[in-house]
Amino acid sequence: MRGDESGGMYIGGGWRPAAGSGLIDVVDPADEQLLARVPAGGAEDIDAAVRAARAALPGWAATPPAARAARLAALVDALTARRDGIAATVTAELGAPPALAQRVHTALPITVAASYAELAAGHPFEERIGTSVVHLEPVGVVGAITPWNYPLHQIVAKVAPALAAGCTVVLKPAEETPLTARLFAAAVHEAGVPAGVFNLVTGLGPVAGRALAGHPGVDLVSFTGSTAVGRAIGAVAGAAVKRVALELGGKSANVILPSADLARAVTVGVANVMANSGQTCSAWTRMLVHRDRYEEAVGLAVTAAAQYPERIGPLVSARQRDRVRGYIRQGVAEGAELVAGGPEAPRERGFYVSPTVFAEVTPEMTIAQEEIFGPVLSILRYEDEADALRIANGTVYGLAGAVWAGEEAEAVAFARRMDTGQVDINGGRFNPLAPFGGYKQSGVGRELGVHGLAEYLMTKSLQF
Ligand code: NAD
Repeated sequence: MRGDESGGMYIGGGWRPAAGSGLIDVVDPADEQLLARVPAGGAEDIDAAVRAARAALPGWAATPPAARAARLAALVDALTARRDGIAATVTAELGAPPALAQRVHTALPITVAASYAELAAGHPFEERIGTSVVHLEPVGVVGAITPWNYPLHQIVAKVAPALAAGCTVVLKPAEETPLTARLFAAAVHEAGVPAGVFNLVTGLGPVAGRALAGHPGVDLVSFTGSTAVGRAIGAVAGAAVKRVALELGGKSANVILPSADLARAVTVGVANVMANSGQTCSAWTRMLVHRDRYEEAVGLAVTAAAQYPERIGPLVSARQRDRVRGYIRQGVAEGAELVAGGPEAPRERGFYVSPTVFAEVTPEMTIAQEEIFGPVLSILRYEDEADALRIANGTVYGLAGAVWAGEEAEAVAFARRMDTGQVDINGGRFNPLAPFGGYKQSGVGRELGVHGLAEYLMTKSLQF
């Protein structure tokens, strides 16, 4: 078993035991074996962590940005030194195949952390507007609640900008992936970040998460996860008139216009959905194809999907696997045509789901409306561009998307009419500095880059 069972929580610059004796089992989703047990922290632990964060706030907020940047740079070094251990841990507790764990789950968040070391050093925390000087000041104590799907990235995307801004943080990571969070805390410690600036409490969502979201000592709650929990957190924050950032679900459209390179658009689209076993909130889970090219696209998607049974890992948990298989059954029951995969378990052990493709999906079907969070692609047919736009915008979500066309300008014109926060044009590359976040019920606020930093800052104007 991995992890230090006696290590407890990281609060006020040191590891201390949890107040209660409850433990959370951490399971390897590839073989269903117990990996470790971590403490299930409760309200008392959250309170201790928030107090530590509050006590550390004045000192950290007054630390010059360049000095905060130096700590973040040291954190980047500490994470880099631990990268093999982090990748192995992500493979163990999330089930990500080793190459993906290295490249996406480890290297990418290190890049994001480095971007904030740089931003903190160069950001204008003061600006002059006419006769006023506007100071950008830290919001205060941040309660960060993160999901399991990209364990390190979700943590870094909140903690790095918060620290860069001068905020202090209490992190409550997902119960499925607490070991990666503990490695992150160890790296923060090694980086010489002052005691109390970053604190970690492992625990259950409805207990520790809820206590953190409702704690009066928290100034901003930053949450990533399901829409149901996000809505509840938003309500609590609203009642207390405190800031809240919500990164929720998605049901993004991959719009393939008639002039597009169909083979490329379909192949990249399938890869996008299957990556991380479909557990990506921004995945393009609805592929929209013009009726004249529909049959050809389905054939290409089936061919592309055939490569993935050997490539993808399991889903994170039995609960998640069962949820996804339930959606696949529902798709069949509502009349969609199963052209690859299906609800049957592909292996004897582990929480695996077959890479699945549905054709003949219509916009009102459950599988075209709800976030499945598994390796399941729905292919929809559109009549013309207006129809494609209606379908693309026809869900409660608006997190991401893609548009493919022969000419970039044609794709851009379509993308500008989509109600969504981020769109890849003809397979555009991921940019760690581009703002990421949702329109509509996909959330409130933005992460990454300078827009992500702004979430953790308040303005104060001095008039002269
Ligand atoms: P979740 O929303 O239950 O969990 C996310 C985080 O919130 C975890 O840290 C959890 O402990 C915490 N939490 C749970 N209940 C809480 C509460 N009442 N108060 C405060 N914190 C609480 O998500 P899940 O159950 O892990 O996944 C369910 C679905 O959510 C997925 O199938 C997927 O559709 C969606 N999801 C989205 C993302 C995303 O990146 N947007 C990530 C993970 C899951």
